[in-house]
Amino acid sequence: MPAVLDLGLDGLRRWLTENNWPAMHAGQVLRWILQKRAADFAVMTDLPKALREQLARVYRVIGSEIVEHQQARDGTHKLVLRLSDGEHVECVLLQEANRRTACISTQVGCGMGCVFCASGLNGVVRNLTAGEILEELVLLRNQLPSGERLTHIVVMGMGEPLANLDDLVAALDVAGDKDGLGIGTRHVTISTVGLPAKIRRLADLGKQYHLAISLHAPTDPLRTRIVPTNDKTGIPAILEAADYFFQKTGRQVTFEYVLLAGINDRPRDARELARLLRGRCALVNLIPFNEVEGLPYRRPSDAALRAFVDCLRGAGLIVKVRKRKGSEIDAACGQLRRRVEERRPAVSAPAETSSPAHGLTR
Ligand code: SAH
Repeated sequence: MPAVLDLGLDGLRRWLTENNWPAMHAGQVLRWILQKRAADFAVMTDLPKALREQLARVYRVIGSEIVEHQQARDGTHKLVLRLSDGEHVECVLLQEANRRTACISTQVGCGMGCVFCASGLNGVVRNLTAGEILEELVLLRNQLPSGERLTHIVVMGMGEPLANLDDLVAALDVAGDKDGLGIGTRHVTISTVGLPAKIRRLADLGKQYHLAISLHAPTDPLRTRIVPTNDKTGIPAILEAADYFFQKTGRQVTFEYVLLAGINDRPRDARELARLLRGRCALVNLIPFNEVEGLPYRRPSDAALRAFVDCLRGAGLIVKVRKRKGSEIDAACGQLRRRVEERRPAVSAPAETSSPAHGLTR
């Protein structure tokens, strides 16, 4: 049975009109799911009973099912969702002071192939629909006590968000609506591997999203080793697109940099990175690598991390080190989904077993 959120507001209006109901009921249905946490059409008591019954015959309120749920002492929740076609994605709720942040996936798997990331190990299976992306948000929000709401979204789960930009933006539009989840664009961070044409398209949308670019290396040869798609793009084109985004939106761009011991955490990498980014209105977000089972990469030593930070700050850059959250549950993000996939019966299990390894950090 299809999920009603996949229709979107316009689709639901159309469906209502075609079925001889007033289109205005569409907003009510969405408000029930997004704001009043309805799990069932039956509770939507301000809708005619016949309409509720008709909806229940053809649609599900939520199409994805929580098949794993882990919770850490620091309030982090990690969910593995089974989508209606049997594929799995992970999403995470992070809680800190007044922030309630949803970390969401945009694709099953990932086509970018960054060498240290578990998500891309088996390529991309498919894009998530706008409805599926919204359902991640709804199911994460439903973990909060009633009356509490999500305050921030980070699009840092599985997949490359800019490879699924239309559905992502459609979901974020609903999330941002005051009748939706009420999470404004300024509280949304989209993290990308760095696709220059798509970054420009995002800038041209004229929305106030925060953009984070996964740089991971200061030179093209090193970046191409870590992020294979760099072969086609190259750092200069990414920086030009980042500058364009800043000019268009006025929003400072973040450069993410996953530190891999002995590979990109050396003093000369820090010096080259400082030289590359000097003079830009940019923030560097250093992410100590979260180790992934089966991959040969390691976290940097504390001394290497400190030296890296000092070098960048000494050059006048703004630097943040991403804190690890929910670390006692199931190591790095993605291991959980992997385990769920491994448990699948062989007949229905495609070769795909990938997952992200980072969603518990921010
Ligand atoms: N495709 C997007 C979103 C990926 S997830 C992108 O490339 O930005 C968000 C961040 O987590 C990216 O910077 C990604 O490189 C990083 N990441 C992936 N696996 C990680 C791991 N095992 N440890 C630390 N960070 C990781």
